[in-house]
Amino acid sequence: MSLDPILHPDRSGLGELVPSRYALRVGDIDVMVVSDGVLALPGAMLGHNADPAVRAAWLEDMFLPPDMFEWALNAVVVRSGGRTILIDAGIGADPGLNLPRAGRLVQRLAAGGIDLASVTDVVLTHMHMDHIGGLLVDGVRDRLRPDLRVHVAAAETKFWESPDFSRVSMPPGFPDALRRTAKRFLNEYHSQLRPFEAECEVAPGVLVRRTGGHTPGHSVVRLASGGDRLTFAGDAVFQVGFDHPDWYNGFEHDPEEAARVRVRLLRELAANRESLVATHLSFPSVCHVAVAGDAFRCVPGPWQY
Ligand SMILES: [Zn+2]
Repeated sequence: MSLDPILHPDRSGLGELVPSRYALRVGDIDVMVVSDGVLALPGAMLGHNADPAVRAAWLEDMFLPPDMFEWALNAVVVRSGGRTILIDAGIGADPGLNLPRAGRLVQRLAAGGIDLASVTDVVLTHMHMDHIGGLLVDGVRDRLRPDLRVHVAAAETKFWESPDFSRVSMPPGFPDALRRTAKRFLNEYHSQLRPFEAECEVAPGVLVRRTGGHTPGHSVVRLASGGDRLTFAGDAVFQVGFDHPDWYNGFEHDPEEAARVRVRLLRELAANRESLVATHLSFPSVCHVAVAGDAFRCVPGPWQY
C-alpha cells in the first residue's frame, strides 16, 4: 500500500494496515472488538484531582508526552442466541472538536463483514458522544432495521434532559457538543429506546447492568457462557485507573461515585478472574485485572490467532 494508512485510510477500511477488529469467544458468545480510532485529549483529563507533577510523572513512566494522551475508542459486537448486538457506536462525524482520527466504526464494521441491517440490538453504556455519535452519521439510521432495540438505562435518558456538568473538567467546547449530540440522539432514536432500570438481559448470557458514576445511567455489559466471563466496562475503567483508581477523569459527572464504581468493579474482576474490555483501553483492550497493593495491574491477554 503506497499511502500512509493513518493519514489516508481507504474508505472501505479493507486496506488499512493497522488492525481495527479483534474477535474472540466467550463460551458460545461471539465477540468482536472494533476500533473507532483514537482521541487525543489533554493529559489533565486523566485525573483533574491529581497533583500535576504526579500526573506528569505517570505519563513519563508510560513513555507518553506530558500534555496529550491518546485514548483508544473501542466498540464491541456480540452475537448470542440469534441476536447481533452493537455495544456503543463510536464518535461518528467529527463534532467540530478536531478529533479527525476517530469516527471510523461504520466503515470498520463493514470491513469486518458486519452489515448494519443485521444488528438487532444496540446497547449504550452511556450517552456521551464518543459512544453514540456513530448512530448519527448520515444514512446510518436508514440502514438499521426499523425494529432495532436500543437499550439504555432510564436514568441516562432522564439525565440528558437536563444534564449537570458542574463537576466535570472537560476541554472547552466539549460540554456543548455533548449536550447537542445527546439531544439529537434522543430525538432521532426516541421510538426505538428500550430503557431499563437496574439491569436487562439483552440475549442469552448478555446482561447490561447500571453502575452510575461516570454518568447517572452508566452501565457495563457482563457476558457469561459455559464458564467463561467477560465484562465490557465502558467508561468505568481508564488506563490510568489501574495505577490510580482514585483519580477523577475529566468526563465523570460524579467523580467520587465513578471512583467507587471503578474500584468495586476492578476488585470483582480481579477476584473472579474474568476478562475485561473497556472503551478507552488500548485496542483490542482484552485483559485481566490483578490486585497490586492498593492499586491494580492490567494484564493484557495473549492474542488468539
Ligand atoms: Zn467515553
